[in-house]
Amino acid sequence: MDQYGAESEVRAGEPRRVPVVWSPETRRHDPRNEVWVGVATIGTETAARVDAILVALRAAGHDLVEATPQPADALLAVHDAELVEHLRTAAERWAAGPYAELVGQERVVPYLFPTPAMTAGLPARPAVAIHADAGRFAYDTMTLVGPGTWEAARAAADCAVQAAGLVTDGAPLAYALCRPPGHHATPSGFGGSCYLNNAALAAHTLRAGGAARVGIVDLDAHQGNGTAAIFYDRADVCYGSVHVDPGAGWFPHVVGYADETGTGPGEGATRNLPLAEGTGDEAWLAAVADLADWVADCDALVVSLGVDAAKDDPESPLQVTADGYREAGRLLRATGLPAVVVQEGGYHLPTLGGLVAAYLAGHARGGPR
Ligand SMILES: [Zn+2]
Repeated sequence: MDQYGAESEVRAGEPRRVPVVWSPETRRHDPRNEVWVGVATIGTETAARVDAILVALRAAGHDLVEATPQPADALLAVHDAELVEHLRTAAERWAAGPYAELVGQERVVPYLFPTPAMTAGLPARPAVAIHADAGRFAYDTMTLVGPGTWEAARAAADCAVQAAGLVTDGAPLAYALCRPPGHHATPSGFGGSCYLNNAALAAHTLRAGGAARVGIVDLDAHQGNGTAAIFYDRADVCYGSVHVDPGAGWFPHVVGYADETGTGPGEGATRNLPLAEGTGDEAWLAAVADLADWVADCDALVVSLGVDAAKDDPESPLQVTADGYREAGRLLRATGLPAVVVQEGGYHLPTLGGLVAAYLAGHARGGPR
């Protein structure tokens, strides 16, 4: 047995230790109370997730690398400038408003959503009040912006960009400990506990570094509607996801279906593989193997590593085990592609770190069965 607790299959030159790019700034976001179907619930996307993962990856012998601030180019390549500006200033605008006296809480909660059903073809003007303006960008009521949210989201984005830079510079595999997660953030909107799309930033950085085509494989229990939207009409970035069927009543509910395959030049470059509630390792890994084959002719890989498909996770009904995640890592390693692994969901603190370590052990070691 070796440091990963796995039988040794390593060949000379294969990576054992993976650079783990992280930032203490990612602890600064505190969701506190999400608003879910009219009630305030305790958020599960907490700063403790960062430490659960750090402890496990340090124990596994990986190399911790603290992120440094990265240029904003990638951010503005995948997101509208108005969204970025909103996220940067929303907490300050709330603090400058009457809310401390009115409602006594400092999280920006959207109150109005200017959907086409409201505006009926008229242009939606930016609302003056921040509680009315927030719905221009937020598409749910459980992804709140408070003091520190921007700093944490920006630091998570830096982790993704820096990890992708390491791979561009020749590392076969790098891991970005992104928190808050990112795959539900769309070009112009945020939701699903995500603010900036870290996986899309990694893919953009790999493209800018010379990879002609980048494949993204999303293992999170929920479809990454934001990543899918960002690349839906592009052929140079393929997006494939295995997730619990939104048609069974799961986030993101209104997209993430198998017949969404891309549009225009991106036709055929999106794949959604929805699974039934209760699905375990066997069918989940078959879908992962399918996606691994599908992206194998790309030049570089981004893995959206959500570990909330695990059986103990409170946020999904999938039943994947740690061995399943290790095998998923092995399957994606077998593509032979240089890879950036970006953290997405995973909310069961007692098992979270071990699941991430298991995936990385599989991906770092890989090789034939
Ligand atoms: Zn998820």
